[in-house]
Amino acid sequence: MSAAAGLQTRGLDKRFTTGKGEVRALQDVTLRTEPGSFTALIGPSGCGKSTLLRMFAGLEDPSNGEIAVLGAAPRAVQARHQIGVAFQDAALLPWRSVEANIALPLQVAGRKVDRAAIADLIALTGLRGFEHARPAQLSGGMRQRVAIARSLVLEPSVLLLDEPFGALDDMTRQSMNIELQRIWTERPTTTLLVTHSLDEAVFLADRVFVMAARPGRIIEQVHIDLPRPRRPELQRTPEFHAHRDRLSEVLFSARIRTETAA
Ligand code: ATP
Repeated sequence: MSAAAGLQTRGLDKRFTTGKGEVRALQDVTLRTEPGSFTALIGPSGCGKSTLLRMFAGLEDPSNGEIAVLGAAPRAVQARHQIGVAFQDAALLPWRSVEANIALPLQVAGRKVDRAAIADLIALTGLRGFEHARPAQLSGGMRQRVAIARSLVLEPSVLLLDEPFGALDDMTRQSMNIELQRIWTERPTTTLLVTHSLDEAVFLADRVFVMAARPGRIIEQVHIDLPRPRRPELQRTPEFHAHRDRLSEVLFSARIRTETAA
């Protein structure tokens, strides 16, 4: 595996054994992203997106094939606290303030809590004024901002985001996308975003991997060569729509093939 790659897999298979037999979650997945690039992963429910992300996070081991993050085994990179992760559910500790939730990974890693760095993150994620609030006092969008700030506190080289804005309404989601782009521009980080939103994928990513189900595999990669910084107006341009339509076409034709084969 290449030390010059961001995220990389070669011939990756993942099978789960359940009471009902074996599930082939991923089959022969080969991909490579550049360090510092933003990649999105889209595909129908159950095609293995979260499984792939969890493998990059070092939370699942491959059944076969190879996987690397910045050229090393995911678990080793995770042990060096170089990977930040955020999921759909913000999973904040309800009894801790915003500030204390963001500081948690530093404490878990046995590092000094740098108050100035936390204040910077609070500003970066637009949470100023809410430092001492408890999660129950925040909106869903704000809780996700806290989760993103927490995933960034160890200054990770890699950011893995699994549908972080999936539960938010459209307007909030759009502003979170703008926010996420700004954060990523200020601290370029090798990023992988799992999303069901084609607009989100086109707006944020340099490259989108499209997956199909049964078995989970990559069927296409689409380069998003839209200029940065990307402003909300971009979403109304023909270029944006062309990329979105391309992704939609790939997803739709894969679904027809899967249904015909079933
Ligand atoms: P969604 O978009 O609905 O979140 P996904 O594309 O992220 O789906 P995964 O959650 O990765 O899909 O699941 C891929 C397949 O692997 C599914 O068939 C799922 O049931 C199965 N799977 C995932 N984790 C496990 C597990 N721990 N044990 C057994 N099967 C699993």
